[in-house]
Amino acid sequence: MYSELTEQLRVRDQQGLRRYRQVVESPQASHITMDGRDYLAFSSNDYLGLANHPDLIQAACEGAQQYGVGAGASHLIHGHSAAHHNLEDALAQFTGFPGALLFSTGYMANIGVVTALAGREDVIFADKLNHASLNDAALLSRAKFIRYPHLDLAALEQHLAGAAARRKLVITDAVFSMEGDIAPIRQLVALCEKYHALLLLDDAHGFGVLGQQGRGSLFLPDGNTVHSPHIVYMATLGKAAGVFGAFVAAQMEVIETLIQTARSYIYTTATPPLLSHALLTSLKRIEQDEWRREALMRNIQQLQQGLQSSPWKLLPSGTPIQPLLAGQSDEAVRISQALRERGILVPAIRPPTVPQGTARLRISLSAAHQPQDIMRLTQALHELAL
Ligand SMILES: *Cc1c(COP(=O)(O)O)cnc(C)c1O
Repeated sequence: MYSELTEQLRVRDQQGLRRYRQVVESPQASHITMDGRDYLAFSSNDYLGLANHPDLIQAACEGAQQYGVGAGASHLIHGHSAAHHNLEDALAQFTGFPGALLFSTGYMANIGVVTALAGREDVIFADKLNHASLNDAALLSRAKFIRYPHLDLAALEQHLAGAAARRKLVITDAVFSMEGDIAPIRQLVALCEKYHALLLLDDAHGFGVLGQQGRGSLFLPDGNTVHSPHIVYMATLGKAAGVFGAFVAAQMEVIETLIQTARSYIYTTATPPLLSHALLTSLKRIEQDEWRREALMRNIQQLQQGLQSSPWKLLPSGTPIQPLLAGQSDEAVRISQALRERGILVPAIRPPTVPQGTARLRISLSAAHQPQDIMRLTQALHELAL
């Protein structure tokens, strides 16, 4: 009955592409216990070190006491609790939009937004290196789907100028998840305004990390903020925010449309309210703990300086995603394995997740890493380059 599946799995195995899950026994932190062994981990998106923060744990317990464990129903059928509602208000205010709407995950938020805003008569323009959830969303929407070369605004403008669709939607990661580089947000917004397009900005890796008080990629390093009614902003709450979930912030017309028509919002149980309750505390830590972002930036600098005199090349990135170029897949796997033997976890990322010939180690840094942690990694990499 399953001989075809068995054969496909065997081929995957043979090509070295079979993936395995490892069992983590400790909380998520810079040091984790996995399969009984301690590791120094550079593999999580817990950029601010909040996933195991005592204040958040306490807030989650309080939330459970106040609201119970399960939401019991979807948001439109009496599952929308005061905890969800308060968090939406706080997120709208924090990101500077008229309204915000919670989704269970970032994957579901992207599916919901894109399918609610684009259909058969519409066209979607997407950066080639966008996250898989944005690609899946575009395919599911049945809109015409045009992918432009990574960050190529001239190509995007050509497509926008030539498009005759009911609605045009540009979708892009704000911080690219395998590159760590940042989309030119100001120019993207200008293009969308010029050609009457909407811009869906996926800030999964920017929210909490970038911008003053961690307000995200729309809050530029020069102190200016990008505002436009053309922007539909999405960010996740399971990365820097340390908990789980996602939200969309936008004009009220967009938020109301999502409530009425986003299928991944409507046809699913609301997340446990205790998570929203914990996220209110997380938001406070994000806003107030400037020292976490400062520690993170110091760690980024220390890594870059530590590898300067080595043969390894980091891709140009000012964010906590620091990809180290290996080239061929087997080389990436070799380095990752050798680090692992030294008790250091850095995942190897291979095609088709990244373009051919650009296999890499995806180093993710956290405010929770100590200077000696970064030193251990750079020293191990120096040894492996010999
Ligand atoms: C992680 C991620 C998502 C998905 O978010 P989840 O909450 O984990 O489902 C979406 N977009 C980008 C760019 C991501 O990195």
